[in-house]
Amino acid sequence: MKSAGMHHASGRLARALVALSLVTAVVAPSAGAQRLSARSPRPNEPSAEDIQRVVDQAYARFKNLKEGKNADYIPALAKVDPDLFGIALVTPDGRTYTAGNNTTEVSIQSISKVFTMARVLQDSGGKVFIDNTGVDATGREFNSIVAIEDKKGHEMNPLVNAGAITTTALVGGGSASAVWQNIADTYDGYAGRHLTVLEDVYKSEAETNQRNRAIAMLMYAYGHFKGDPLQATDIYTRQCSVGVTAKDLAMMAATLANGGTNPVTRKRMLDAQHVPQLLSVMATAGLYDDSGIWLFNTGLPAKSGVGGGLIAVSPGKWGVAVVSPPLDKAGNSVRAQRAIEYISSVLGGNPLAAGGEPMSASGRK
Ligand code: GLN
Repeated sequence: MKSAGMHHASGRLARALVALSLVTAVVAPSAGAQRLSARSPRPNEPSAEDIQRVVDQAYARFKNLKEGKNADYIPALAKVDPDLFGIALVTPDGRTYTAGNNTTEVSIQSISKVFTMARVLQDSGGKVFIDNTGVDATGREFNSIVAIEDKKGHEMNPLVNAGAITTTALVGGGSASAVWQNIADTYDGYAGRHLTVLEDVYKSEAETNQRNRAIAMLMYAYGHFKGDPLQATDIYTRQCSVGVTAKDLAMMAATLANGGTNPVTRKRMLDAQHVPQLLSVMATAGLYDDSGIWLFNTGLPAKSGVGGGLIAVSPGKWGVAVVSPPLDKAGNSVRAQRAIEYISSVLGGNPLAAGGEPMSASGRK
């Protein structure tokens, strides 16, 4: 009797707990969301006016900076206007702040690698990268063949060409057109609009991408490759030629800053558990062999492309992007680095600084 009674009592308790957890599960998110939207900014949290002012200041400060040179190993990139300069920042509530040119598209180039990695992370999880591409900085240029030889194709990462082309080969779909559609839909989802390929850039790079074909073949020879290396290189070349504005790139970055959900369309692109995995590779390898100095200066996971784009993510706070084609010796946009460093330092975006620094006085001027 006694034990039956206890059983009965614990059954009631269990039912009560289940009911309670159901109520919490249903109520908590919306209550949390209401609290978030209703709360006023914390003392050091920048207001919308503050953010717009900082973005405008960054534009004015670096508008006349003429250092660097367009990439020219892809002939079409040499022809892009070096004065093109656009800045955009998007916050998790979907507010967008812009300065300069946010209508002219450049090719996304290596920034695409982040979002192809995101596709594979979402579909296959993090382990495939440990098994197939590695997740370590190579300490060499993005298209290094020596790095592949050195470690027999191990210890690469999805953001250098060897790992990126391997990652493209891991995208599901089967046929070349299905894989491409999968990639294109993914980029569209992050950007929140339909993006198109800049065909002149694609054609120009496809005619001159012998080195990337060699890289893919070498990765294949070392057994790191699923599928046809030349087909993957062609799809990779196409993904690098997708046209984006600074605003598109900022939306893509903001989707990552927002835990994997596009802040405007509210479409979930990446499960929250995978976002830190993606950001960690951006932090260690996003700016080629200058990734260390960039992280040292800003603490921001970021990714550059030879088209002149640069994205950076301050998790929970904002995604920012700059487009400006002239690059430094490491292959990173000069103005983009300076503008993002400036914006982040004023807004307190460094995720490695405890609690973020307060807004500096310069931002209040
Ligand atoms: N499509 C370019 C290449 O593979 C991308 C390189 C880059 O942006 N670093 O060479």
